[in-house]
Parts: sequence; structure tokens; C-alpha cells
Amino acid sequence: MAFCPRCAAPNIDTAVACAACGAPLSAAPGAPVPPIAGLGPGPATPSFDASLAPRTNGLAIAGFVTSILCGVVGLILSIVAYNQCKKSNGQLKGEGLAIAGIIIGGVNIVLGIILRAAAH
Ligand SMILES: [Zn+2]
Repeated sequence: MAFCPRCAAPNIDTAVACAACGAPLSAAPGAPVPPIAGLGPGPATPSFDASLAPRTNGLAIAGFVTSILCGVVGLILSIVAYNQCKKSNGQLKGEGLAIAGIIIGGVNIVLGIILRAAAH
């Protein structure tokens, strides 16, 4: 039984190359194993086309965050973002964020009015 110097797979003694990974078994133990064609740096993987994948609407994120800080601005941003998501035919994600921004912005405005009224 000969063990592969590269992957340690057991091979028959007469084997010239490893049945598992193809590394030459005639090489002395510890000798550098020549790289196998196809496992080295091959052609670059096709670049991911981000324009085809659905992406999150940045405005929806901005509207959500802003709705917590400033209700009116966040509400407006979220409504615009929601409309953009609706018109994008699924290309823009973030509809849920936009709805959350609209709700939070609305609550923020109502709370602001109540607090202002209570202060008077
Ligand atoms: Zn091997």
C-alpha cells in the first residue's frame, strides 16, 4: 500500500499516480508535488453582474434610519423609496424597510405633536 504524498489516499503499490488526486506517487516522500493542471490559478471566475441581481434600495435604508431621527424627513424618504420599489418590478428590495420607515416616521410625527401639545 502506497499513500499519496499530496492527499494521503491509499493507493496500490504499482500505481504511478494517486487515484484520488492524480499526484505522481513515484516522487520521494516530502518531494514537492507538481501542481495539477486545472487546480492551479485558473481563469478568473465570471464577475458577478450586480445590475441583474435585486439590490436593496438605498433610499429605503436612509428613510428607515431618518424616520427614527426625524419623522417628517424619514416619512417622505420612505414614501419615495416605497414608490421606487413598487416601480422597479422586483429589481429594488427594501419595500419592507420603506414601510417600516413610513410607520416609524408617522409615529414619530404623531408623538412629536402629542409631546408638543402636552408641553403647552
Ligand atoms: Zn492523492
